Amino acid sequence: MTTDWREIDEAVRVPPGAAAMLSKRDPVSPHLIEDKDAGRASLKEDAEAIDALQDALWAEHTRALLVVLQGIDTSGKDGTVRGVFGPCGPLGVNVTPFGRPSEEELAHDYLWRIHGAVPKKGIIGVFNRSHYEDVLVVKVRKLAPAKVIEQRYEQINAFEKHLTENGVVVLKFMLHISKDEQKERLQARLDEPESNWKFNPADLDDRKLWDEYQTAYETALTRCSTAHAPWRVIPADKKWRRNAIIAAIVRGTLEEMAPAYPKPDWKAGDFKID
Ligand code: ADP
Repeated sequence: MTTDWREIDEAVRVPPGAAAMLSKRDPVSPHLIEDKDAGRASLKEDAEAIDALQDALWAEHTRALLVVLQGIDTSGKDGTVRGVFGPCGPLGVNVTPFGRPSEEELAHDYLWRIHGAVPKKGIIGVFNRSHYEDVLVVKVRKLAPAKVIEQRYEQINAFEKHLTENGVVVLKFMLHISKDEQKERLQARLDEPESNWKFNPADLDDRKLWDEYQTAYETALTRCSTAHAPWRVIPADKKWRRNAIIAAIVRGTLEEMAPAYPKPDWKAGDFKID
């Protein structure tokens, strides 16, 4: 990436203690990366770098990276996984989707299933939806009492602090799309036979609650953007720009973590292989 990733990161990051201002954030944001070919080239380069860094992370075996992807239907969570982590292969990246909780999961506290999926040392874990659903869909659909939901923001902050103090770096990306873009993507699922399977009539019910979801996101992003685990709002109307920005931040974060291959306590000359 020609622009320093930190400049882009600064632009998309929700400063801890500040309002997320979702409605003021442009889902297109052309100024962040202007040229599509350059964006595609940087994605390719960054995705390969992420693969190499993950190899070192695994060899070092002391820390993990957790990438949380949140966004409304059609915001591109699956596409991000494919575009940014596709080149990594299955060895070092674990992707966990979180759908409607099972009976077993509902019998536990809401973080139980989340904690169980946190990546172990050496692994990059990607959450496709996450514990944030418990303050998003659960709030919008009134699946739990308001008082219970209200307590969760601080619980989530404490949980993420616990993770970061125990070797898990937490990167949270909200994929921000416009209502018009969602309309186009839903329409494409109806129009394109190969995309028909992705169409779920229930998504239209959620679309009717667009404003309620935006408000719930605003609250979650504002209250849970912390110094230890800040939120990033990624302009996601253009898929190539979304992927390029996320890849740049993941790469930059891994480079800052600087995983190191352990030094062997032997020399090659110590051994003879017959
Ligand atoms: P996706 O839309 O992510 O591709 P699905 O079609 O399986 O995958 O949708 C998952 C659904 O599960 C979403 O509607 C989401 O809101 C819902 N969900 C996720 N977590 C929870 C939760 N904790 N409580 C209720 N519903 C949830």
